[in-house]
Parts: sequence; structure tokens; C-alpha cells
Amino acid sequence: MLPASTSQLGLTGGEPTLYGDGLLELLALIRSRLPDTAVHMLSNGRRFADAAFAERYAAVGNPRLMVGIPLFGPEPGRHDFVVQADGAFDETVTGILRLGERGQRIEIRVVLQKHTAPAIIEIAEFVARNLPFVEKVALMGLEVTGLAQANLDDVWVDPYDYRAELAEAALLLRHARVRTQIYNHPLCVLERQVRPLAVRSISDWKNEYLPACEPCGLRSECGGSSSLPGTAAASTLSRWLRSRIEASQPTRTCWSIGTTGSYSRSCNHAGSTR
Ligand code: SF4
Repeated sequence: MLPASTSQLGLTGGEPTLYGDGLLELLALIRSRLPDTAVHMLSNGRRFADAAFAERYAAVGNPRLMVGIPLFGPEPGRHDFVVQADGAFDETVTGILRLGERGQRIEIRVVLQKHTAPAIIEIAEFVARNLPFVEKVALMGLEVTGLAQANLDDVWVDPYDYRAELAEAALLLRHARVRTQIYNHPLCVLERQVRPLAVRSISDWKNEYLPACEPCGLRSECGGSSSLPGTAAASTLSRWLRSRIEASQPTRTCWSIGTTGSYSRSCNHAGSTR
């Protein structure tokens, strides 16, 4: 058994709710043995469409329990295609509503990949209009591991290509007073107005930095390119560098990036300070 001092506990699967009563018993046990532990469970949310199950989940009564539920589209077609299951969108959204009715803590996760990134603004609008009661929305860059790695051509999209839409979606959610965070993105690829929403979500030991990161003033706040797949990392950052730095012809050591996302020269070379 974990010590009572455990600060965080994550439950994932597969799909934890498939364990039904076994999951509810485990959650009740966690609540009694680890009352001060923050518990985060990943689920597709579909089982909560069953009002009786949602009621029993809520009855566990753990104020430190949050469920993270992925949403892959603003309508059934896109979401069901990504998860390859007809009817999944309706069940997931119904499940979120059932949990919301019962005051449960919900995080919506929007993983940005080739099939979801084009709809990021519509997904944000859907959440703002229909699910504004959720505790937070996490806009997440694709973690290229496992199945994503094996199907990279089918799922990969360069964050540089959706940066404007990501910024619009994040600001839309913020204006709707939905707490919003951005995960798994190099800071320089984000539009500067949404950089304060970025979470340094990659463990320090996983961080990778390209040579282009060497002079960057944001290095201590940024996970580097570790959220990008191998060759794509160099491509993504080099596109950013081409647009921001190489076009103005300073040497690499001339630039720093402020915490607000502004760039400034630290020497007297000619060039834009954007
Ligand atoms: S450390 Fe590298 S990836 Fe991060 S903001 Fe700087 S240049 Fe971009």
C-alpha cells in the first residue's frame, strides 16, 4: 500500500470504468486510506452516461478525485472516427453532463493531432457553450509514443501549422471563464499571448534541446523539443527560427525571449527584435 503522504495518484488503463464496481471499491479504498492524495483518473467517460453508475461514482465523495476525459471533436463524426467507435461522442458528452450534474471534478483533454487540430476552435466553442462547468481544459500536443509512434504519418501535425488556431481556441475558452492549460508544446511554437497558459509537463529528465535552443532565454521554463518526434522537432523549430531569427540575420547568441514571450537583442547586431 502507498504511504498516506502520497501527494498524487494516477489511474489509467485501458479504460478504468470497465472494472465497474471493482473501480468504485478501489476509489472508496483510496479515499479512506489516502485522504490527502490528489487522484487523477483517465477515462473515455462513456460509462458515466449510465446515470446510476455516475451516481455511485459521485457517492465515493472524494473531493480530491478528478477525471480526465478526452474530447476529439465538436460533433460525433470527428470524435467517433478518432476513437473508432460509433456512438462514442454521444456517450462521452452525456457522461460529462451526468458528472457535471453531480458536481464532479472534470478535466477535458483535447489531444491535438492531424484529425483534431483542424477543429480546435470548434471544439473550444462546443466546450464553452455546452460544458462550461468543467474544472479545466487541457489542450495537449501529441505525445509520440506507442500507437502514435507506430502511426505517425496518420496522426502527426506540426504544431507550427496550428499555432494561430490553438491560440484562438485557448483565448476563447479563457473568455468563457474556463480554466485552460496547454501541454506538450515548445514555448516558441506558441503564440506569445497564450504562452502563460503553457504547463511544463514533461519530466526534466526527458527534456531534449536542439542546438537552436542554446541561446534561448526561455530554456529554463520550456521542455524543449522533447514533445516533438525526432526529425519533426528540428523541422518545427527551424521553421520558427527561420521566421523569427534567421530572417533578421543575428547570430544565435544575440537573442533572448522574455517571460511574456517578447524577444530582445542582447548585442548590437542588426535585425528585428520581434
Ligand atoms: S528552449 Fe528551444 S524549444 Fe524551448 S522556447 Fe527556446 S528555442 Fe523553443
